[in-house]
Amino acid sequence: MLIGVPREVKNHEYRVGLVPASVRELVGHGHRVLVETGAGAGTGFPDAAYAAAGAAIAPNAAGVFATAELVVKVKEPQPEEWRQLRPGQLLFTYLHLAPDPEQTRGLMESRCTAIAYETVTSPEGGLPLLAPMSEVAGRMAIQVGARCLEKEMGGAGILLSGVPGVPGARVAILGGGVVGSNAARIAAGMRARVTVLDRSARVLDALDREFAGHIATLFATTEAVEQAVTEADLVIGAVLVPGAAAPKLVTRAMLGGMRPGSVLVDVAIDQGGCFETSRPTTHAEPTFLVDGIIHYCVTNMPGAVARTSAVALNNATLPFILQLAEKGFPRALAENAHLAQGLNVFGGRVVHPAVAAALGEAP
Ligand code: NAD
Repeated sequence: MLIGVPREVKNHEYRVGLVPASVRELVGHGHRVLVETGAGAGTGFPDAAYAAAGAAIAPNAAGVFATAELVVKVKEPQPEEWRQLRPGQLLFTYLHLAPDPEQTRGLMESRCTAIAYETVTSPEGGLPLLAPMSEVAGRMAIQVGARCLEKEMGGAGILLSGVPGVPGARVAILGGGVVGSNAARIAAGMRARVTVLDRSARVLDALDREFAGHIATLFATTEAVEQAVTEADLVIGAVLVPGAAAPKLVTRAMLGGMRPGSVLVDVAIDQGGCFETSRPTTHAEPTFLVDGIIHYCVTNMPGAVARTSAVALNNATLPFILQLAEKGFPRALAENAHLAQGLNVFGGRVVHPAVAAALGEAP
């Protein structure tokens, strides 16, 4: 199969659909890969690295869209991209169609076959192509939180790890799923004093077993959240109620009980945030102050570490891309029910029931 990788055109998107190591795997399986010139520049992979991996280099996106049987991207297609998609052409990327009727219409009119990363499922439950970005954001949350605690950033002047004779910072993590557990691993590894709060007994049990006493776990009642937050130097917001806005677990009143210069990192901001005082920010201006508490609420945290994120995403997508390339459509989906869950648009219609319902379209 001929697989095409255009350069991402969405503002501030540096990731790339295929990294050179994935190209080499695909070429090794007898497929051809066409990469737009400069597609890997934002992640530090020059055209020469793609050529060395066996890809051909296209001078522009048109060259990719005109010939590829399968287009692999990262972000949802932009108008100039969906206009180039062809009937029956396979598209594999993040789509997030539910809040985006304009893109949905564009994809329907193209009559391409669009498979969304975010609705592919796994036998263990969960969303395997969203998990890598949650792993990145969870780990990064501690890195940015530690930096915000420094005086220069307006923080309380606390070293996350402490030193001999001085205790480490207290870190409260709201939600112990993929983001929360990854944040806990890094915070505990840096010798902070970590408490994870969740409402799932299964999640609390798994964390308790993994950390064997090195972190505390708490059932997330309002009282427990209030106490953990007011005692913490750094709070990570990592809750998710699938398909719903994040619950506001931390009220403005609770901020009054925190020490000035403490830090909130609201990773759940892409679902509206779990702190009442959160509002979305960008990497250009990531933080703001409310009542003396630093808020970090960047909606696309993985974008700051585009190289790690692109490789992590490829590790998760490559097995599915190999199946699509090997078997084509519709056989690859017929033989893998989890990949089939990714099918969002086919034959000019939205065919994923939940996505169709969210958009008010008949599947
Ligand atoms: P997840 O489903 O793995 O974990 C969410 C956890 O929240 C679950 O363990 C659940 O039991 C818990 N929870 C739900 N309601 C709760 C409540 N009231 N109190 C305490 N715990 C509660 O989800 P995840 O992959 O860890 O993602 C968390 C959030 O981070 C999502 O909103 C996701 O979209 C977001 N995210 C943001 C970025 C970013 O760049 N800002 C990047 C990746 C993920």
